[in-house]
Amino acid sequence: QESLQGHVEEVVLAQPRGFCAGVDRAIEIVERALAKFGAPIYVRHEIVHNTYVVNDLKTKGAIFIEELSDVPPGATLVFSAHGVSQAVRAEARERGFEVFDATCPLVTKVHVEVAKLRREGYDFIMIGHKGHPEVEGTMGQLTEGIHLVEDVADVAGVQVPDESRIAVVTQTTLSVDDAAEILRAVKQRFPLVREPKKQDICYATQNRQDAVKVLSGEVDIVIVVGSPTSSNSNRLREVAQRLGTASYMVDSADEIEAAWFEDRPRVGLTAGASAPELLVDAVIARLKELGALSVRKMPGVEEHIEFPLPKGLGDKAMAEA
Ligand code: SF4
Repeated sequence: QESLQGHVEEVVLAQPRGFCAGVDRAIEIVERALAKFGAPIYVRHEIVHNTYVVNDLKTKGAIFIEELSDVPPGATLVFSAHGVSQAVRAEARERGFEVFDATCPLVTKVHVEVAKLRREGYDFIMIGHKGHPEVEGTMGQLTEGIHLVEDVADVAGVQVPDESRIAVVTQTTLSVDDAAEILRAVKQRFPLVREPKKQDICYATQNRQDAVKVLSGEVDIVIVVGSPTSSNSNRLREVAQRLGTASYMVDSADEIEAAWFEDRPRVGLTAGASAPELLVDAVIARLKELGALSVRKMPGVEEHIEFPLPKGLGDKAMAEA
């Protein structure tokens, strides 16, 4: 092992990286609910797709469930940042839970758009990854008329009753480049398709992918801090890889292998939107053990977006008490 150490020379941090405003808000909702109502607080699905965050909240008294039938009557329930279908929302109401909705406002924006255009008679193409909770939530805003497209090949199979009334929506955390390619195919097949005024891929996804593109050109290898379930983290690793830069995703510093850095002394580091900065710090410490002498930050976009908390949890003094 000793002979493999000391390969790393420099660490370059992507800017921006890590937490987005939607993740920050979602975690704060669970923490404030715990402070206000006490444990346990039930959370439908991982609040955000990060192992560390979920385990940390578990130790503080959060219980993560997938089925609302696993939540006892009268409990306080939080919906995860990915959003929920109308069926889940209705079931929570029927079961009488006190609900706090941590759906990212940028996901809610897509839900609102779907409902509005449906009233105007539109069918939808949703570009996204099958099985991802955000896709289930957005598609579940309607009981019919929304068609999932995962790649260009899927576009050919879409059937709609009226090709002049079709709109496209996307998952917020897609590869910007893949989504553009699929959208081109959609427009070719349905020239009258209605697009969102502003793309559904969110600012955080766009900015983190842009930063990795710049970073990839300056380093020999890119490490992405993120959990395997995190869509946006996986996309960051792909972005680097497609540019020809070796790239690995790690859930924590101890997954790092010294052999990755053989002949790759310049290490780029980024983190998915759900990965806390303390995990990045731990990776930096590990890279220093492997020889890194300097750590520098790339210039890049500074984000100042913040989302308000839901009613009933927004009192700052209360959470700090
Ligand atoms: Fe919201 Fe984008 Fe963050 Fe998802 S990645 S929580 S859509 S800001």
